[in-house]
Amino acid sequence: MKYDYLIVGAGFAGSVMAERLASQLNKKVLVVEKRNHIAGNAFDEYDEHGILVHRYGPHIFHTNSKEVFDYLSQFTQWVPYEHKVLAKIGDELYPIPINRLTINKLYNLNLKTDEEVKNYFESVKEKRFPILNSEDIIVNQVGKDLFEKFFKHYTKKQWNLEPNELSPSVCGRIPVRTNDDCRYFTDKYQFIPKDGYTKMFEKILNHKNIEVILNTDYKSIINTMKFDKMIYTGPIDYFFDYKFGKLPYRSIRFEFRNLPQAQFQETAQINYVDNLVEFTRVIEHKLLSQQNSGTTTISFEYPQKEGEPFYPVPTEENRNKYLQYKKEADKNNQIIFCGRLAEYQYYNMDQVVANTLKIFENEVK
Ligand code: FAD
Ligand code: UDP
Repeated sequence: MKYDYLIVGAGFAGSVMAERLASQLNKKVLVVEKRNHIAGNAFDEYDEHGILVHRYGPHIFHTNSKEVFDYLSQFTQWVPYEHKVLAKIGDELYPIPINRLTINKLYNLNLKTDEEVKNYFESVKEKRFPILNSEDIIVNQVGKDLFEKFFKHYTKKQWNLEPNELSPSVCGRIPVRTNDDCRYFTDKYQFIPKDGYTKMFEKILNHKNIEVILNTDYKSIINTMKFDKMIYTGPIDYFFDYKFGKLPYRSIRFEFRNLPQAQFQETAQINYVDNLVEFTRVIEHKLLSQQNSGTTTISFEYPQKEGEPFYPVPTEENRNKYLQYKKEADKNNQIIFCGRLAEYQYYNMDQVVANTLKIFENEVK
């Protein structure tokens, strides 16, 4: 059997590309996935207690792109869901992103307007220019104390780097607010797939021209398969046998626990922003899917170096190393590198879908 395309990886990048190639260009596609399931890091499944859990951390779909939302809506119905996160310091919980309520509770103030909060930030922030790293971007907005309370330790635990060693884009993902909006995201579309992500991926990949093989590293079959072109969504350094050295990816150990109680915590996610515990956050999964059940499943996230590569690590040194790989990748027009691992970019799901659709239109079609 000869395929038009070999696609490495059944996450968003690989699956969306497979769907486009099969449905729009009638191409025969083989998707090779090294794990024992589709959906990449968005994989979810029911645990033994009947609770839908996100095996690789909480995945909340949020986007401002109508195109991305409409595209995925072909494969799933949605449940509206606006993510809220609380940050735990000692025994107290505070809204994160930092907002008016955070400031009032933390400093026992009674700021009533956006203007008053703006003035408060003005009085405590430290001017940093240029903004070179993740410490600068936060201190420049809210000053040292809030930075140290909410960002310093969490960031160190998550990345094993100080914020001043990381690109401003890392902590810059988190806005600072002067109002009392406690939502984590403010995008126009915020949803969870009604029957879960894995079911959505089953529909994306359900096409007569698409074949999926699981539990298979593409390197173990590549010499026996016949295909014209390749889409690669795995780690780019692995593809090139680490010829320019290893790119660091941050991993996480997830510890799941089922508890004999209806609810464990106030919100689906609580960030442990101090350095008293090693884990970064606790997720209560039924609060994401809004499931009713007598018990509840929670997961603790322990960041680590080894393991499944989840996060590219945005430092200048790593960016330069990635660019060496990219230069090599650009020489071969039979292979397209796309997705979070292949482009070494800290992408959200909607960004991966948007990019994959764009690559399909501009480079494949
Ligand atoms: P992946 O999902 O990583 O897919 C790549 C696939 O390639 C994997 O399945 C991998 O097993 C496979 N593969 C790798 N190497 C090989 C090989 N050699 N042979 C065969 N197969 C291979 N995004 C959001 O928008 N909202 C969120 O709330 C959110 N939360 C997140 C929480 C966590 C803890 C993490 C880690 C990520 C989160 N994300 C979130 C980001 C989201 O997971 C990614 O944007 C998205 O999954 C990237 O899709 P991808 O296809 O590029 O990569
Ligand atoms: N961050 C932090 N404290 C928080 C939340 C986030 O220091 O309470 C920093 C941390 O460095 C984290 C980054 O901001 O890795 C991005 O946070 P986000 O919640 O977007 O991380 P993700 O969900 O992608 O793991």
